[in-house]
Amino acid sequence: MVQAEQLASIRNRIAAACAKAGRTSDSVQLLAVSKTFPLGDILEFHVCGQTAFGENYLQEALDKITQLADHPNAQQKAPPIEWHFIGPIQSNKTKPIAENFPWVHSVDRLKIAQRLSDQRPAHLPPLNVLVQINTSGEDSKSGIEPEQAHAMCMAISAMKNLTLRGLMTIPSNTDNSEKLKAELLKCKSIFDDLNAQGLSMDTLSMGMSADLELAIECGSTCVRVGSALFGARNHSR
Ligand SMILES: *Cc1c(COP(=O)(O)O)cnc(C)c1O
Repeated sequence: MVQAEQLASIRNRIAAACAKAGRTSDSVQLLAVSKTFPLGDILEFHVCGQTAFGENYLQEALDKITQLADHPNAQQKAPPIEWHFIGPIQSNKTKPIAENFPWVHSVDRLKIAQRLSDQRPAHLPPLNVLVQINTSGEDSKSGIEPEQAHAMCMAISAMKNLTLRGLMTIPSNTDNSEKLKAELLKCKSIFDDLNAQGLSMDTLSMGMSADLELAIECGSTCVRVGSALFGARNHSR
């Protein structure tokens, strides 16, 4: 099964990068980024033991979550699929996110965080959130400025229905590995500083198909891998 091989190959890359960095391979979680790929592909990976899947587009994700209900075998397979929302969040879309996802990686406004907390259904455990940091300095990139991280994280950590788990970043799209490394290390240093100041975050979400080794070297605990697992995305949205 091709999915089993793809998964093994990514797990090997993660394990090798961890070994090189003197870290244990269970210190890095694999988030399979399934945007643009159908539920059928996700189920193939789930059968091979992958449980965490990341989605960027709300409607597409909700469609897959609804379709999953028609697959009782997949729903019964333990551990079940765990959906992570990793895309830009519009404030009028927070309710379905709060209702359908256990994890959100892309919180970049206090207003969004407050709405997610207010709209998290009472019967569900607190929503796990990561604050997205703009480490590239590019205006076009979403994420908060590093200087705002302390205030934002302190405020979120006090919100009733959220659990602040850590930080996420999408660095510059560049071949310059020194620049990339500087951005990844900036996020790691903000993460360490905030923990030293009393927060207890355990998740640093950084690294994608092309740069997961560098991200692990820089302290990532969660790599978000799309194309190296699912193949190239031909319809970009
Ligand atoms: C698409 C996407 C990824 C995966 O990127 P690949 O290069 O396909 O591994 C990771 N993180 C975010 C936020 C994404 O949008």
